[in-house]
Amino acid sequence: MPRYDYRCSVCGMTFEVQHSFDAPAPLCPSCGGATKRLIRRPASMLRGMAAPLSKYATKEELRAKWAEETPKLRKKLVEKLGEDVVRRNAPTLGEG
Ligand SMILES: [Zn+2]
Repeated sequence: MPRYDYRCSVCGMTFEVQHSFDAPAPLCPSCGGATKRLIRRPASMLRGMAAPLSKYATKEELRAKWAEETPKLRKKLVEKLGEDVVRRNAPTLGEG
């Protein structure tokens, strides 16, 4: 199956998904927001955001890392977009 790169419209996370050609766009694995398919670019650009997480080997470590990163991410989003927008578009990020 082909691989596709997506970017989240809500939090800006980029990620790679393997699915059939006509499958619908997946939701963001980070915040559940809507995503858009990206045109393929050199891997180094797209992997930029995922790279820091790749060193966490197990699911538990990954989950712990997310728990640590989510409040920071939310804070950043609130600063950029405002409290109301974040609460409406990314309720899974919690209240921080
Ligand atoms: Zn997202």
